[in-house]
Amino acid sequence: MVRETRLHPSQFVLPLFVRSGRKVRRPIAAMPGVCQLSLDELVIEAAGAFAAGVPAVLLFGIPDTKDDKASGAYAAKGIVQQAVRLLKKELPQLLVITDVCLCEYMSHGHCGIVHQGKTSAQILNDPSLKLLARAAASHAEAGADMVAPSDMMDGRVRAIRQELDNRGLEEIPIMSYASKFASAFYGPFREAAESAPKFGDRRGYQMDAANGAEALREVALDIQEGADIVMVKPALAYLDILHRVKTQFGYPTAAYAVSGEYSMIKAAAANGWIDERAVTLETLLALRRAGADVLITYSAVDAARWLKE
Ligand SMILES: [Zn+2]
Repeated sequence: MVRETRLHPSQFVLPLFVRSGRKVRRPIAAMPGVCQLSLDELVIEAAGAFAAGVPAVLLFGIPDTKDDKASGAYAAKGIVQQAVRLLKKELPQLLVITDVCLCEYMSHGHCGIVHQGKTSAQILNDPSLKLLARAAASHAEAGADMVAPSDMMDGRVRAIRQELDNRGLEEIPIMSYASKFASAFYGPFREAAESAPKFGDRRGYQMDAANGAEALREVALDIQEGADIVMVKPALAYLDILHRVKTQFGYPTAAYAVSGEYSMIKAAAANGWIDERAVTLETLLALRRAGADVLITYSAVDAARWLKE
């Protein structure tokens, strides 16, 4: 009766990785239980999650080809656009959220357009916004219920909001990766999404793990620009940020428990060092206690089943 915080599958979002092909389930070595899925397998996986009580998925695309304009990110027949159409047809009740970024589609693996100078390379913020807005709009036109820009370019929430509104998609909400830190916890994901940068790193546009006040400024900007849900990523090492964001803004807040967080629990459990179920649920509960309304987690299906038992 006096329990303050509750965990429920209705709070969960399951990230899924989609690629071309048929009957493909390509396991990601560093993330046991997580696979890159072809469209047919994606539907099976999403249906299983929905049946377990997980109401939403977050889609990441792995295109067959990459270029320096990220063409696959906004192609009408891009892999994510195809996946969205299929999921909304097969599972109309499932909330389909799409990750909006360019890195998976760029030959160099960065989240924006790169200007290659003689001695150094530079990310071009403003020209990248147009491509991000096009990508988001193409997802929404394919039927996505919500778009989630993860690039951390300045001004991208406003650019996406304007593009959606211009195309008559005013009702599509934006979940922004509002405070996304340059984190070593993303390691296993880069194998999953095949999005590791070919040179340099992402510290030019992601945040320094040392900066809490800056995170709040980034969140404030995204809210001003029209974000409907703000996200903190990673989750477990940033509980203070999560708490401050929720306390200061009172906005719908999401926490993304990233690949490294998942892999650590899986690895320790595989060695018999911790109880996977107990640690996973305790971790998710901690995110809720810190202030998260929405929990994005690779453990969504297991956790939903555990909570029902
Ligand atoms: Zn990216």
